[in-house]
Amino acid sequence: MKKNNAHKTICSYCGVGCGILVEKDSKGNISVEGDEEYPVNMGMLCSKGKTLNYVAQDTSDRILYPEMRWGRNHPMQRVSWDTAMDRAVGVFKSIINKYGPDSVGFYVSGQCLTEEYYLVNKLTKGFIGTNNVDTNSRLCMSSAVVGYKKTLGEDSVPISYADIELADCFFIAGANPAWCHPILFRRLEKHKEENPNVKVIVVDPRKTQTCASADLHLQILPGTDVILFNAIARYLIEKKKIDKDFIKKHTVNFDACKESAFQYSLREAAQLCGIPVEEIRKAAQYIGNAKGFISMWTMGLNQSVIGVSKNVALLNLSLLTGQIGKPGSGPFSLTGQPNAMGGREVGGMASLLAAHKDLGNPSHRQEVSNFWGGKEINPKPGYTATEMFDALDEGKLKAIWIVCTNPVVSLPNAKKVERALKKASFVVVQDISHDSETTKYADLLLPAAGWLEKEGTMTNSERRISYLPKVLDPPGEALPDVEILWKFAQKMNFKGFNYTNASEVYDEHCLMTKGTNIDISGLSYDRLKNEGSFQWPVPHSKHMGTPRLFNDKRFFTNDSKAHFNAPQKIENQSEKTSPEFPLILNTGRVRDQWHTRTKTGKVQRLLTHIPEPYLEMNKVDAYLRQLKEGDIAVVKNVRGTAQVKVKINFDIREGMVFMPMHWGKILGKDFGRANNLTSNLIDPISKEPDFKYAAVEVKKYIKP
Ligand code: SF4
Repeated sequence: MKKNNAHKTICSYCGVGCGILVEKDSKGNISVEGDEEYPVNMGMLCSKGKTLNYVAQDTSDRILYPEMRWGRNHPMQRVSWDTAMDRAVGVFKSIINKYGPDSVGFYVSGQCLTEEYYLVNKLTKGFIGTNNVDTNSRLCMSSAVVGYKKTLGEDSVPISYADIELADCFFIAGANPAWCHPILFRRLEKHKEENPNVKVIVVDPRKTQTCASADLHLQILPGTDVILFNAIARYLIEKKKIDKDFIKKHTVNFDACKESAFQYSLREAAQLCGIPVEEIRKAAQYIGNAKGFISMWTMGLNQSVIGVSKNVALLNLSLLTGQIGKPGSGPFSLTGQPNAMGGREVGGMASLLAAHKDLGNPSHRQEVSNFWGGKEINPKPGYTATEMFDALDEGKLKAIWIVCTNPVVSLPNAKKVERALKKASFVVVQDISHDSETTKYADLLLPAAGWLEKEGTMTNSERRISYLPKVLDPPGEALPDVEILWKFAQKMNFKGFNYTNASEVYDEHCLMTKGTNIDISGLSYDRLKNEGSFQWPVPHSKHMGTPRLFNDKRFFTNDSKAHFNAPQKIENQSEKTSPEFPLILNTGRVRDQWHTRTKTGKVQRLLTHIPEPYLEMNKVDAYLRQLKEGDIAVVKNVRGTAQVKVKINFDIREGMVFMPMHWGKILGKDFGRANNLTSNLIDPISKEPDFKYAAVEVKKYIKP
């Protein structure tokens, strides 16, 4: 590849955010390779990133022009952009006039670029007058957001990937980075290979690929994470392995943490977690003796009915040991999606405001509304992801506009989501692909430009902001998402949407952050193109970014101290198993698929790893049900069923089964959709669904 002709961009899959060089030959063929100069991946790419060229060039399923139908029983018809926008504006205005602004909502995605996220928030919160804008990031990061805010004062990942090479103890809880964040994990593996003293502790009810690198695997019972973290805290306190000076000078609320940690003895905790007490002691010793301690976590903690409690209990360990704001240490939530972090910067959730401002704070609301020059910001939080579809189901929400996400496969209790979309008065789907299961519920289908077909920015898991250039023209009449959104806003006669390019949107977003803790007023497209990526904050045009937060031990709280929090819930609050449904269903990702497979499902090479959905089951549970490897099992509960092949091993605990979450309908059947079975429960604070714990029974499929 002639690198001097290559375009530098970022992988559109996971939150690691690897740098990619894209080159287009004279026939228009695209090739991709890892960017050796990019500090995240230094040339490496995982199986998904390496095959992005196939996805970018396959336009076989693309939505090429706007399509519309006049009623639910009418066929979709090709229409012009003007007709499509007139219809969207007409329906939205009439619903808002009749039922008020809270009767409409936008459901967006952590794969949207920051500019798109910014505009959809400005449009809804600043001009329509509702906070009904939420995102599929609610499904992966919202418990971590609340945990950070409670502990550090703001939603702020303190560290950088470069801290990995400086740490000597990793505590990976509820995450399988070997499969789900492969390049980040490769950095950790290499560091461990070169430094045999480095300890890796993995907490997971399943023995995953990540465990292959672990010195200690704590295979706890599902839902017992808080009990484990508290037990480790207790051991550290009792053995005086805490940083007293740091706690005294830079934290508050230690006593609440201690009281919670001392609720159970180590032996009681070990029994409740279903692991030997020695393993808890060993984990605590590794952490207590570490010079640099990093905790890493993702969906196993966040996607829980007690997700916030799990997060604060884990964050307490970093505060107890004073392992924050110094090289090689800190808590590190691994972002699932490529721009979940960017979305949070612009307030892309029903409970947030732009620039990390607080919806509950009247002066923040005033600042945002003054900046935009629109309506007063509604103080009432909007519907969150699952609430939005519940509200559609109940008739409180009449119209929904879905951008770049496939809720029919990705939301819990998928049958309810389908029912809600059928009941909606008006559904707009703005996406790239006809293949998404959600498009069939659309009354209006808007063709969006995909990866490489539009410019914009994204922020990865370490607060690193990068510019993504436009390399290809979008097919047919597809338009960049920002353009679709500002066309709609202009037709709604909203002021302040007369943009001519994405750069103007970005400049406005940067300006809005001025003076805040995430100040990026020193950034512009020119700087990002010419100087490369930056980690926020970047408060002026000569500033080179901030690799690590809190070096000065001044946190973003009102008193500048880090706050210990006693987890509100210690025991799990998930759906109870019963004699009828005695097994716990866990769901998650596999290595070579991404979300609902609208992109990775097109790449044959990626199907060679795991070609179809399956149910992982312990050998004892399989034996009791007379199931053999490869048999078809029927997985069932009160919400639905799935029918998939069984994989049998001892890697998963007895009493527990696992299904990947990627598959939706195959040949029109939804047998492989894990979310037929997942629970309606959500964390009461973060509103993140309890994807990892649903009561089910499994039986052998008998042909009728
Ligand atoms: Fe893309 Fe994530 Fe793989 Fe990097 S690790 S290439 S960002 S999917």
